[in-house]
Amino acid sequence: MVKRNSDLANLKAGYLFPEIAKRRREFAQAHPEANIISLGIGNTTEPLTPHVTAGLVAEAQRLGTEAGYSGYQDEGLPTLRERISEVFYDGKFDISEIFISDGAKCDIGRLQVMFGSENPVTVQDPSYPVYVDGSVLIGAAGGWNGNGYNGITYLPCTAENGYFPDLSKVPAGSLVYFCSPNNPTGAVATREQLENLVAMAIEKGCIIIYDAAYSEFIRDPELPKTIYDIPDAVTCAIELNSFSKPIGFTGVRLGWSVVPKELQYQSGESVNADWHRISGTIFNGASNVAQAGGLASLDPDGLREMRAGTDFYLENAKLIKRAITDLGITSVGGENSPYIWAHFPGRDSWQVFSDILEKCHVVTTPGAGFGPAGEGYIRFSAFGHRADIVEACERLKALQV
Ligand SMILES: *Cc1c(COP(=O)(O)O)cnc(C)c1O
Repeated sequence: MVKRNSDLANLKAGYLFPEIAKRRREFAQAHPEANIISLGIGNTTEPLTPHVTAGLVAEAQRLGTEAGYSGYQDEGLPTLRERISEVFYDGKFDISEIFISDGAKCDIGRLQVMFGSENPVTVQDPSYPVYVDGSVLIGAAGGWNGNGYNGITYLPCTAENGYFPDLSKVPAGSLVYFCSPNNPTGAVATREQLENLVAMAIEKGCIIIYDAAYSEFIRDPELPKTIYDIPDAVTCAIELNSFSKPIGFTGVRLGWSVVPKELQYQSGESVNADWHRISGTIFNGASNVAQAGGLASLDPDGLREMRAGTDFYLENAKLIKRAITDLGITSVGGENSPYIWAHFPGRDSWQVFSDILEKCHVVTTPGAGFGPAGEGYIRFSAFGHRADIVEACERLKALQV
C-alpha cells in the first residue's frame, strides 16, 4: 500500500472556508427565505473589461492560424515582461529578472519547493493561508502545537502595533512572507516601515517574499506599490504580483514574480538562476492567451480599464467601511485595499461571524481563520456587485446595539 505523505497529515488547515460554507448552508436550510449576501470571499465578481477581452479573443484566433501559432513560451512573452518592467518598476528590471506565471499562489508553492525545508519561516499573523500551509506541505513548518507550527515564527499584526510587526522577533536567515496591501487586514505598509523591513532583512540575512497582489488598489501616492521603492530591496527581496485582482483574472490565471540578479543565497549563489531552473523543471509557462490579455491590460486603454475596475471595488470598500464606522466599530483597511478588518475586542470571531449571519444574513470571514492574532476580528471583502454591497450595508445596521 502507498503511504500518505506525512507532511500532508501535518496540515491543520483547509478548515476555514469549508467551515464557513457549512455554517452558511446550515443557516440557509433553517431559513430558506433568507437572501444571503457574501462579503466573505476574496474572489472577483465583475466581468472582464472590453479591451482586455478583445486581447484574449484576438490571441485565441491567432493561435488558430499557421502564422500566429505558438507553443511553449518558457518564462513568458518578452514583450509582456518588458511592459511589466516599464509599467510597475520604471523599467529598472531586465526581462531575465521577470517571470510570468499562472498566478501568485502557484508561484508561492514553487518558491517553497525552491527554498526547501531547511530555512526558518516567518509570517505576519494573521496572514494569507498559503504561506503557512505551503510550508507545511514541504516539511518546513515543524510540528503543530495546538496554536501554530513550531518551525514558523508568527509576527502578530494587531491594532496595538498598528498592524506592522515587531521585526526584532525575526530569526536570522529566515524566509519572511510579507503582504502589502495586506490580506486579510487591508493595512498598507508605509515607506518607512518597508525601509525597516529591508534593513532588518539585510542585517539578519533574510529573504523577503513580498506579496503585492493588491498593489493596484493603492491610491495614496505616499504609499509604496512595490518593495523595490526601497533601493536595497534588490539584494533581499522577491516580489510576487498577479493580474487576478486588478483585472479579474482569478479564473483566467496570470501573475509574475521579480527575482533580481543581485539576490544571493548565503553561499553566494544566484537565486535568479535557481528560479529559472525551477520554472523550467516543474512549470511550463503561463497560457499564451492569458498573457495576451495581460499585455492588453498594460496599454493605455487597458490601464484605464484596470483603474476603473479597482476604483469600483474601492468604492464598495468605502461603503462597507462607512457602514461599520457608523455602528461604532473600529477597523483598518478599506482605503487602499479591498479588505476591511473590523475589530470586535474581546469577542470570539466565530461568534461575531454567526451573529452577523443570523442578524443580517451576511457572510463574512472570521479573523481567527487567518492565524491566532486574527481572534477578535472579522474580514469584510469589497468584492461584490454594487447592489449586494449596498443591501448588505443596510442590513448591517441590525448590529446596532
Ligand atoms: C488573491 C491573492 C493572490 C493572487 O493569487 P493568484 O494565484 O495570482 O490568483 C496572491 N496573494 C494574496 C494575498 C491574495 O489575496
